[in-house]
Amino acid sequence: MDRPMNQQHYDIIIAGAGAAGLTLLYYLLKSRLHSQISVLLIDQSLQPDPSKTWCFWDHSSFDIPEIIYHSWNHLTVSALGESYSEDLLMNKYHCIRSIDYSGMILQEARKSESVTLLKAEIRGFASAGSGATVETSEGTFSAGMIFQSALKPSDFSTSKVDVSLLQHFVGWEIECREDLFDPNKAILMDFDIEQLNGVTFMYLLPFSERSALIEHTLFSAEILDQEQYEEAIRDYLSKRFHLTPGSYFIRRKEFGAIPMEDRVYSSFYCPNVMNLGIVGGLAKPTTGYTFKRIHNRCKSIVRHLEEGKMPEEKRESQYRFRVYDMMLLSILKNETKNSIQIFHDLFEKNSFDRILDFLDEKTTIPQELSIFSSLPYLPFFRSIYRMKHRIFTGA
Ligand SMILES: Cc1cc2nc3c(=O)[nH]c(=O)nc-3n(C[C@H](O)[C@H](O)[C@H](O)COP(=O)(O)OP(=O)(O)OC[C@H]3O[C@@H](n4cnc5c(N)ncnc54)[C@H](O)[C@@H]3O)c2cc1C
Repeated sequence: MDRPMNQQHYDIIIAGAGAAGLTLLYYLLKSRLHSQISVLLIDQSLQPDPSKTWCFWDHSSFDIPEIIYHSWNHLTVSALGESYSEDLLMNKYHCIRSIDYSGMILQEARKSESVTLLKAEIRGFASAGSGATVETSEGTFSAGMIFQSALKPSDFSTSKVDVSLLQHFVGWEIECREDLFDPNKAILMDFDIEQLNGVTFMYLLPFSERSALIEHTLFSAEILDQEQYEEAIRDYLSKRFHLTPGSYFIRRKEFGAIPMEDRVYSSFYCPNVMNLGIVGGLAKPTTGYTFKRIHNRCKSIVRHLEEGKMPEEKRESQYRFRVYDMMLLSILKNETKNSIQIFHDLFEKNSFDRILDFLDEKTTIPQELSIFSSLPYLPFFRSIYRMKHRIFTGA
């Protein structure tokens, strides 16, 4: 139950109850700390969030399999008029609905004696002695440690950034009158559509023979008008599936704009206030996938707290993966046609499992060299030239 505020100091404050804040809370509630610590969870809304679906892939290592809404083991990528499809042997591609995830964790939080929920606007953070404070519309609260996923890092506007794109999309969850989809097969990326505003593709996740989430997605700097995404979805459903607007209804819409940047996000907002989630720089710059990185980071934080240690200041990716991301970001920004050629060759010449492991930063250097040798090299040389001041300084 949400409780009246009778306490101003907590062991831990979690500011922001989206994917990151709730995942941290989930692992705290599962840890042996849960009965020993007091936690304050703050957000402007503490209702289950219906606005997102989170997808990720794994080798069956996800800790909450019961919350997965749907999984696929067959993916297709289309580019330059050709389609590549494969059964995944190692990975599975999963989808979680934010309403299920946030509903489950908020319910557990309300049952816990250790957790207090506060609906409030978060206004700022400050360090204070060996802890920190958060200022909210409902007052100021202190804790030994604050984890925040609500406000951009305090040095955001001054941090170095050469490429700043967005992965932006509108998705429709549709229900058709007739069987049309294979619920085992997802379209990861279909680039065979108009490329008018930067690298653009369709993404289609069938949940049943008659229902699917379809997203019109771009990697570019500028958000479009809502109607431009929606017109593209209508057009795709008509050309690819012969669906007229009267032959399906839209159950739900979603919009996202995830940063794709070479910016280094600070781990701490100020001493004792750690940044988490998107504002903690956990979005993979070249794909926008964030959800699994949030899980890995939150697990590691709770492990540290269980051992009585402070969570570490940490960059999400090793140096070589940051370099790969910088190169691809630069190509995505400057060379739309070559970007699509790269995606084409990547999926034509490598197994999907290997590519997914590469995007998860789990491959070895020889495996990465093999992947790069399958791609056109000139765009990468040009990107190294453009990004040399970042790549060779380790920034
Ligand atoms: C529509 C959409 C789909 C996505 N799909 C995927 C996907 O398939 N796979 C993937 O890996 N990633 C995906 N992402 C990226 C990423 O996983 C999500 O953005 C994820 O929700 C990030 O978690 P977060 O906690 O950082 O931010 P959020 O989940 O946005 O949580 C931030 C929380 O802070 C609260 N808040 C913000 N400001 C204030 C304030 N001033 N006061 C009080 N509360 C505040 C918000 O209410 C919110 O609850 C998607 C993103 C979007 C937008």
